[in-house]
Amino acid sequence: MDRRSLIKNAGIAGVLAAGAAPAIVSAQPAVRWRLASSFPRALDTIFGAADVFAKAVSDATGGRFQVSVHPGGELMPAFGVVDGVQAGTVECAHTAPYYFFGKDDTFAIGTAIPFGLNSRQLTAWFYDGNGLKLFREFYDAYNIVNFPMGNTGAQMGGWYRKEIKSPADLQGLKFRVGGFAGKVMSKLGAVPQNIPGGEIYQALERGTIDAVEWVGPYDDEKLGFQRVAPFYYYPGWWEGGAQLDLYVNKAAFNALSNEYKAIVTAAASHAHTTMQAMYDARNPQALKRLVAGGTKLEAFPRSVMDAAFRASMELYGELNDTNPRWKKIYEDYSAFRRDANLWFRFTEARFDSYMQAARL
Ligand code: CA
Repeated sequence: MDRRSLIKNAGIAGVLAAGAAPAIVSAQPAVRWRLASSFPRALDTIFGAADVFAKAVSDATGGRFQVSVHPGGELMPAFGVVDGVQAGTVECAHTAPYYFFGKDDTFAIGTAIPFGLNSRQLTAWFYDGNGLKLFREFYDAYNIVNFPMGNTGAQMGGWYRKEIKSPADLQGLKFRVGGFAGKVMSKLGAVPQNIPGGEIYQALERGTIDAVEWVGPYDDEKLGFQRVAPFYYYPGWWEGGAQLDLYVNKAAFNALSNEYKAIVTAAASHAHTTMQAMYDARNPQALKRLVAGGTKLEAFPRSVMDAAFRASMELYGELNDTNPRWKKIYEDYSAFRRDANLWFRFTEARFDSYMQAARL
């Protein structure tokens, strides 16, 4: 019996029994990639998403496609990963695009900009709006094919040695803040520092910086910030939902079979969902532990939020006038933000605020 009639006569069970299906899987070549993360291995949330991705790729290919995951600094500096992927030194990286605003401010829109989209809204813009299409065009100049791969959700506003009672308290404050938000902090008189996650604690302990923000309770507790600064502010208005990306070298991606490309896409999407789930599930317990341990939880005063909002909108106006790549993406993003907030106002916001007040 030839193979075609075997399939026709035996159906799928017979094909599997005859070993035809495994023959199709093993026709895929063995592939080994290296992934450079911008994060320390100790953070099982943000670093862990790369492990989730690598495991999903391996599982879906019977181990034929392996991705080794390397923490920031192991293969290259934490902030060297765009250059690494662009040059093909590594096949892929996992990072927060806004770290690279020094190359082009447009990178920031791909992670979070002050008073930008929240996690749900950003995923909607990337998956069903124009976000992914616009960023694929933008990254082409860097030989990068990008995939959303994780979101922290809305972040906390960070750890401070002194209370922040008005915008004047930000004057001269040496503040470790993620990426692009430093531009708004500068407008408010603070002195921003862009420091990789694995190096922040030492800087704060030595007094090189006065305040620090990272992500939220689960990560911040691991990094130990509660031991050196008592005031923990909320919300992180510069990161209403910070997205991470998988950056894949264009030539490495194009060399994959269609099946492997589909597996990379699906695995990144799986890791994207998993990271948000980890933060949402683990932050509440960590926040309770921190407060029980003496951390003082404070809300940013309205005057600080308003000053930051005005400074942010002023910055976006300046960038619209000077950077056509920013303008093209920001115009689409800001129209999406307007509609998303209109919709969420009636649904998510109203429902969530009722439930939070219900104190079940
Ligand atoms: Ca942050």
